Amino acid sequence: MAAISLQGICKRYRDHTAVDRLDLEVEDGEFMVLVGPSGCGKSTTLRMIAGLEDISEGRLLIGGRDVTHAEPHERDIAMVFQSYALYPHMTVHMNMAFGLLRASQLPRAEIEQRVQDAAQRLKITDLLQRRPNELSGGQRQRVAIGRALVRQPKVFLFDEPLSNLDAKLRSHMRGELERLHDALGITIVYVTHDQVEAMTLGTRIAVMDGGRLQQLGAPMEVYRQPATRFVASFIGSPEMNFLPLPADAEDGRAWLGERYGALAQDTVLGLRPEELSLASDAAPAPLRWPGVVQRVERLGAEAYAQIRVGDAGVLVRTAADAPLQADQAVVLTPDLARLRVFDGRTGAALAIQ
Ligand code: ADP
Repeated sequence: MAAISLQGICKRYRDHTAVDRLDLEVEDGEFMVLVGPSGCGKSTTLRMIAGLEDISEGRLLIGGRDVTHAEPHERDIAMVFQSYALYPHMTVHMNMAFGLLRASQLPRAEIEQRVQDAAQRLKITDLLQRRPNELSGGQRQRVAIGRALVRQPKVFLFDEPLSNLDAKLRSHMRGELERLHDALGITIVYVTHDQVEAMTLGTRIAVMDGGRLQQLGAPMEVYRQPATRFVASFIGSPEMNFLPLPADAEDGRAWLGERYGALAQDTVLGLRPEELSLASDAAPAPLRWPGVVQRVERLGAEAYAQIRVGDAGVLVRTAADAPLQADQAVVLTPDLARLRVFDGRTGAALAIQ
């Protein structure tokens, strides 16, 4: 097992900085998820940890050893790719054993034992004699993980491993990965663009955008206290509602207290769909937002109502059977304890006193 330390890591292509001065400490045994939109630099970061890309600047330590310029095989890591990268002409057994047979000095009996152990753990023992084209997507993914497991590396790197699977299987595999991590206590760095995977798998998540680290924290911490408007909108589905600062001073003071007067006009407020509720007419006057229902999406266990409030549109989570329909007049109450305030220019979260 090993900690990973990224110190001021940069990756520059000719005219483009893909990763910009990234500092990140992955603790021993941690499940670290790198998450962000396409092109934010997360795969490049993972590939630099793996040694598949040169590091333009900065230092990389794995288990306390400087491996900035070490060859991939000297780093004691194993990587699982989105494409699985299995050898099509080999059986599952050979796919799992091949790397060890070729590159390690281990006795054959030890290799066989490791393949059997990994197969058992991943429940693919009865597939060992099949070839990859005789497997489902989920089974191929297990083989790819098994091939990494048998090497018993210090660090596991996963690059979007579940994105080729359907939604049900993805959810199942998330559970399996979590169990694997708990059972083996291995250090994992996991790349995904899917914020659900990040929220459910990560011990901590590192949210990236434009080659930079935007926020690092436990999933619920990032969800509750996003550091920027970008993080607030990227993490959480459906997305957070963003509203302009109220023009009416009475409303403004009711929501924000005495800070209202000190905030710039382009300040943006943020509330998640579950932080707004349909209120009764008896709610205190300033906390009542009259609105009109535009549309209701009923998802079975819950419903989301798109509601127009003045010039703004907000999405509100409500009970699946809430008696709502388009054009209906409603009254909303915001949960002011959860209200967030963002600088309209920089997007930085501002503290509310
Ligand atoms: P992500 O994994 O977050 O989708 P990547 O790490 O793959 O993003 O890419 C980060 C940025 O670096 C992107 O803007 C991408 O176009 C650029 N990039 C990646 N590989 C190369 C390359 N070989 N040459 C030039 N630019 C690249």
